[in-house]
Amino acid sequence: MAVTGAGCDLTYSKMRGIVSIFAAFIKERKMGLNDLIQKMGSNPQICQNSDVRVFLKIDENQKKEAEEGTKPCVASPGNSLAKETQVKPSDFDYLKIIGKGSFGKVLLARHKDSEQYYAVKVLQKKIILKKKEKHIMSERSVLLQTLHHPFLVRLHYSFQTPDKLYFVLDYVNGGELFYHLQRERVFLEPRARFYTAEIASALGYLHSLHIIYRDLKPENVLLDSQGHIVLTDFGLCKEGVAPSATTSTFCGTPEYLAPEVLRKQPYDRTVDWWCLGCVLYEMLYGLPPFYSRDVAEMYRSILQRPLELKPSVSNAGRALLEGLLHKDPALRTGARHDLMELKCHAFFSPINWDDLMAKKTTPPFVPSVSGPVDLQHFDPEFTHLPVPGSLGNSECLVTSSLREAASAFPGFSYTPPATLACP
Ligand code: AMP
Repeated sequence: MAVTGAGCDLTYSKMRGIVSIFAAFIKERKMGLNDLIQKMGSNPQICQNSDVRVFLKIDENQKKEAEEGTKPCVASPGNSLAKETQVKPSDFDYLKIIGKGSFGKVLLARHKDSEQYYAVKVLQKKIILKKKEKHIMSERSVLLQTLHHPFLVRLHYSFQTPDKLYFVLDYVNGGELFYHLQRERVFLEPRARFYTAEIASALGYLHSLHIIYRDLKPENVLLDSQGHIVLTDFGLCKEGVAPSATTSTFCGTPEYLAPEVLRKQPYDRTVDWWCLGCVLYEMLYGLPPFYSRDVAEMYRSILQRPLELKPSVSNAGRALLEGLLHKDPALRTGARHDLMELKCHAFFSPINWDDLMAKKTTPPFVPSVSGPVDLQHFDPEFTHLPVPGSLGNSECLVTSSLREAASAFPGFSYTPPATLACP
């Protein structure tokens, strides 16, 4: 198809190109606007201005109710763009604890009306405020809303009560990739290649949006029931945004820390290619590169010791590992052309990247799961824990520290536009 006018031929592909440029532009503006609104909402002086209050739709009654703890704080200032969400903790039955992270728990939950299963991540605001991650957490919610990729966990909703933040995510029940690796010790190359390619395509997608994943670590790589990769967790960070000193810098698994992160130097997206190298190395050799039980020794090795690769792995596999685990980020594979560089690497020559993205490549292993409530791939250490009854309550007593927490996360709550209830 071609549209002709004013002396220029507009072909279908040109039109698509123009449309995608506009779409990317609008997406970027929307994220910028969300950021701006969050900043406005969290600045008490700016909030005093009556025009700003009208713009942000700050409603005195709702604010009071939230402070009194009688309603979840779902109508935060930054949320006015995405409409007020009606999704609340009591919409879900919380069935089992399936994991624990540094800020709180992950639970298997069923939406009461739709009977859909979700993984609900519940984070304690107090802990986030203590760790000075408040800004990052709101930002992560904003970032996650915009992400759509076959190998990234989807955020369906986020909401908050005076003391907790809730993320409602896809429930992924094939188990952690490294749970399966531990059982088998190492993976054969085709299997390791498949997982590495799916993870790489998700990282390349994030990089195309100027996002660094940063915290790629074994616990964050899950398998879905068909055997495809799903990356979870919110170690997301916008490119160019400095990490908040010690907290964000060292919250990752120590084995996967890149040399530049260990040196507390500024880092860029190539940090993700280092971590991918660590994942691939561990899948092929059974232990992380430079591993030592003595953490200080391991750090020294990450910084100084040359990579040694035993010949049990193919030449192409070793070449890729050497490229990804280059200590100098500027010389690392991916430093120049990001994912494209990996796609062209000999190790990935058997991969059809279009099929991979369309999930047309048959996974090398299908986890045995009998249904959504089959929790055999989750650690009984968590699944045997009692589920706290307070999770489904939107109400809680308000203490002075809670009052601070209650108003501290503007722009966090999220319901996709045009849906006000779970599907
Ligand atoms: P995180 O705090 O994201 O590191 O999660 C802690 C643990 O909870 C993970 O290691 C997983 O075992 C589990 N988990 C996290 N997100 C999900 C999810 N979307 N579906 C199923 N399990 C999850």
